[in-house]
Amino acid sequence: MGNELTATGSGSIEPDPALLARLDEVRDRVAQATRDAGRSDEPTLIVVTKFHPVDLVERLAAAGVSDVGENRHPEARDKASAAEGLGLTWHFIGQLQTNKAKQVRRYVDAVHSVDRPELLRALSSQERPLDVFLQLNLTSDPGRGGVVGDAALEELATEALQTEGVVLRGLMAVAPLDEPPAAAFARVAAASERLRALAPQANALSIGMSHDFVEAVQVGATHLRIGTAITGKRPT
Ligand SMILES: *Cc1c(COP(=O)(O)O)cnc(C)c1O
Repeated sequence: MGNELTATGSGSIEPDPALLARLDEVRDRVAQATRDAGRSDEPTLIVVTKFHPVDLVERLAAAGVSDVGENRHPEARDKASAAEGLGLTWHFIGQLQTNKAKQVRRYVDAVHSVDRPELLRALSSQERPLDVFLQLNLTSDPGRGGVVGDAALEELATEALQTEGVVLRGLMAVAPLDEPPAAAFARVAAASERLRALAPQANALSIGMSHDFVEAVQVGATHLRIGTAITGKRPT
């Protein structure tokens, strides 16, 4: 695919009207879903830019996007570095190897995919604080990312609260494809209640993707991770 890591901030990137139209449409639908849910607080829109070149990130920033999501190091590192100066908030949303954690925390503001105590220990730091979300595995496949079960979640939350340089924000999950998203998200909401019994401030919910963000807003998503509905098809 050839990630063209061009210089940024020059305003030389030509606009993409189709991208802007999709972005506007998603923003409208998020606003509508928020009103329909009787909420006054709109969730944070994280645009997932994985596989796309940094030009897309620049176009999004020019359109007022403040938060972007990536799932692989070093692709994420290269883009964050090329887009430095745009003032974006970078969210790491993919499975993260323990031995990459220190590098990743240097260029991201949040890691949404924390699912084991060793990863928390690797993310600990005396440098700037990092937001973390604990990932739940909502599938029946234990090989997927995320913790399974209340005991594992509580253990992970306790570790997060004791980890230096880490701010426990809440939970993250991906709805399985073989189940209505609302049913899966209801389990996340229940887990969030248990988490808040341990950590009252850890009330964030990073749920909702291109095909299920309306349902996610309904159950209280605070962070939406939306890719293709905004970016179009990902390059392969
Ligand atoms: C790719 C990805 C997304 C975005 O998916 P879309 O279906 O393109 O919106 C969200 N969350 C995670 C964890 C992802 O890997």
